[in-house]
Amino acid sequence: MAKMKALVCRECGKEYPTKAIHVCELCFGPLEVKYNYDEIKKGISRHKIESGPHSMWRYIDLLPVEGAATVGPHAGFTPMVRAHNLGAYLGLNELYIKNDTVNHPTLSFKDRVVAVALTRARELGFGTVACASTGNLANSVAAHAAAAGLQCYVFIPGDLEAAKVLGNLIYRPNVVEVEGNYDDVNRLCSEIAAEHGWAFVNINIRPYYAEGSKTLAFETVEQLGWRAPDHAVVPMASGSLLTKIWKGLNEMLMLGLVEEVRTKVNGAQAEGCSPIATAYREGRDFFKPVKPKTIAKSLAIGNPADGYYALKATAESGGAMDMVSDEEVVEGIKLLAQTEGIFAETAGGVTVGVLRKLVKQGIIKRSDLTVAYITGNGLKTQEAVIDAVGRPVRIQPSLVSFERTFKMGKNGGGAA
Ligand SMILES: *Cc1c(COP(=O)(O)O)cnc(C)c1O
Repeated sequence: MAKMKALVCRECGKEYPTKAIHVCELCFGPLEVKYNYDEIKKGISRHKIESGPHSMWRYIDLLPVEGAATVGPHAGFTPMVRAHNLGAYLGLNELYIKNDTVNHPTLSFKDRVVAVALTRARELGFGTVACASTGNLANSVAAHAAAAGLQCYVFIPGDLEAAKVLGNLIYRPNVVEVEGNYDDVNRLCSEIAAEHGWAFVNINIRPYYAEGSKTLAFETVEQLGWRAPDHAVVPMASGSLLTKIWKGLNEMLMLGLVEEVRTKVNGAQAEGCSPIATAYREGRDFFKPVKPKTIAKSLAIGNPADGYYALKATAESGGAMDMVSDEEVVEGIKLLAQTEGIFAETAGGVTVGVLRKLVKQGIIKRSDLTVAYITGNGLKTQEAVIDAVGRPVRIQPSLVSFERTFKMGKNGGGAA
């Protein structure tokens, strides 16, 4: 029996074949992948996973593809860094950084979702792939499409960081810059997807795409020695990543790969685009769309597709949500860099900033095993910190100049 059973409507439960569809024709609810867990359970074990490839594909039994990974074989299985210094600074005994700044090949967590989406798109017979993106998704789709020999269109908002624009162009896809924000881009892409027979990874392929995020939960559990953390701190754009981390943890529990899951899943947004965290703060289970204005552009989705489900996942897990200002985003980036040597993009600054707030508020306690998800690389958002890091010390090419600058005497000693 196949591991994928059907696509199922998250609202009314109607089932559909596992094709390139994403909304329920009865109630317009979003579709998600339904698995034959009884079947999967017979074949899965810690030992089998541990002897699998050093990539997210070691969890292929829980991913929505029929055959082998044909796109993105090296994505995932990124380092889980024990953050002694940042933990000590914040007052946490056991803090870990899940470091997707070094994901392969485009340095963000999006390589996970794209590897699944494009492998599935190929299985479904598509020759052209596309996406609506806040930046990282486009980079990953463009790179993977180049390697897989697929035609590619990426649609981005008009105000992206230079490195994220370049990070598309270098792979030579069709890069379409839309005069508007992400929500405008996404609306346009829904229309294009309805007209053209392309695999839009985050529209008609979304049910498969989203499942790729579960691998962050799987890796977390395995890398912690088959334990689930007490707290997860997760950045939110559409809210999909957060919901899938929660789903992934529960799958591991259901399949007996972890004894217990008491993880509180906490959501992080930037103040300038915080529809989900604001709904949480105001005690609502629905969000109000906003017009984004923040340096955390990768998270700048004003009308988040999974916002409702993210609120639900956080509530089910007993977690919290919070938001930080752009200044706190920059501080968060610098703090992570200066304590752990990890240069994150703005989304990472959001995560660290919110982690800090949750510790201060006593929501995350000193003894809580905590994982912060750092999902993108700082070299892609240099604009955000360029004015906040000072300049190099400039000297003449002479020993005297060097020693004078650093106020050193003849026999060493002294420092600037
Ligand atoms: C896309 C993205 C996220 C979260 O995306 P969701 O839409 O919530 O799944 C987080 N961090 C970075 C760097 C991203 O690019």
